[in-house]
Amino acid sequence: MFMKAAVYRRSSGLMVEEVPLPESGIDGVLVKVANTGFCGSDHSLIESGILPDGFILGHETSGIVSEKGKQATGPPVGSRVIIRPTYCGKCRGCLMGKPHLCQDNRRTIGIGDLPGAFAEYVKVYSQMLIQVPLGVNSRSAALAETFAAALHGIKCSGSNGGSALVIGGGPIGLAAIQLLKLIGFGPIALSEPVKEKRLLGQTFGADYLIDPLTEDITRQVGEWTKGVGFDTVLECSGVAENIQVAFDLAAKCGSVCIVSVIFKNAVIRPMAINFKEIRVSGSISNTHEENIQCLEWMLAGQIDPSPLITDLIPLDQLPRVYKERIHTGKAVKVILQIGEEF
Ligand SMILES: [Zn+2]
Ligand SMILES: [Zn+2]
Repeated sequence: MFMKAAVYRRSSGLMVEEVPLPESGIDGVLVKVANTGFCGSDHSLIESGILPDGFILGHETSGIVSEKGKQATGPPVGSRVIIRPTYCGKCRGCLMGKPHLCQDNRRTIGIGDLPGAFAEYVKVYSQMLIQVPLGVNSRSAALAETFAAALHGIKCSGSNGGSALVIGGGPIGLAAIQLLKLIGFGPIALSEPVKEKRLLGQTFGADYLIDPLTEDITRQVGEWTKGVGFDTVLECSGVAENIQVAFDLAAKCGSVCIVSVIFKNAVIRPMAINFKEIRVSGSISNTHEENIQCLEWMLAGQIDPSPLITDLIPLDQLPRVYKERIHTGKAVKVILQIGEEF
C-alpha cells in the first residue's frame, strides 16, 4: 500500500512522491491527516542542509485516528486529534513531564527521527495525541501548535502584564500579539518589515507598528515608552542581530525571551543586559497543556487563527509554493489540505 507525501531530496528539495503507507505496529497510532501547516522550522531545516535524503517533514497537523496498535492507549479510532510531536518516555525531559524537552530527540514526528505529516498518513504514539473539541475545525486545530509556541514564549518570559514588544510578525509573532492582548498586556508593539504582516498585527491588537528597515526603532520606542523601554520583548524574527536589539529596547528589570530558532551565532553586548538587570530566557516548542488551552480559546472565539492563513493548498503544490511563497517570505501561513477536513 502506498500514499502521497512531500519528501525532502538533497538534490532537488521538496518532491511529491508515492511512499509506503506506514503501519501502526504494536504500540503506534496511524492518523489520517486532514491539514498540516508549514512551520518556520520546516523552512529552517530545509535550508540548513542537515536533513537526510528522503525525510518527510511536517508537525503542525490535524487529522483522524484511523488505526491503533494493540498496546496503544489514548483516543479511540475516529477521534479528531492534533499532535504534540515529541515523546520518548525514557529521558530526563519526558520523565520530568516535559516531553517537549525530550533529550534523546527520539520519536519526534517530522522534526527529528520519524516521518512527519506532509503525507496522507502519519504514524505517531498515543502520548503525542491531543483531542480536538467539537467546534474547532481542522485548519484552526492544525494551528494550535503555532499559538501554543507563542504562549510558551510568553510563559517562559516570566511576565504576566505590562508593555510588550514583539520583534518579527511571522505566524508565532502574530499569534503572540493575539495572546498578549487576551492575557491583558499593553501597550503592545510589533516590529516587522513586511507591510501585510504589520497590518495583521494591527488586526490582532498591536497598538504600535514599525518597519525596522525604514524607520528608527530606537527613537520610536523611546517615544512610545517615554524613554523607559518595553517590560517584555519577545524575539520572534529569527534574525540573529535582533537579539541585541531586544536587549536595547527592553526596560530596566525588563524581560527578553528568545522564541525563534536562530541557527547563526549572534554578537551581543553583555553590558546591555546587566546594566538594566534584564531577565533573559529562551523558549522552545510547547506543552500539551498549552495546546489544550489554545484549542479552548479557539472554541470560545477568543483567538482566531484563520487570518494567518494566506495560502490554502493541496499537497501537490507544496514544492512550487515553497519556492514562490515560503522561501521568498511572502506567505504568512501555508496550510496544506491533504485529507478530508473537519
Ligand atoms: Zn512548528
Ligand atoms: Zn524523551
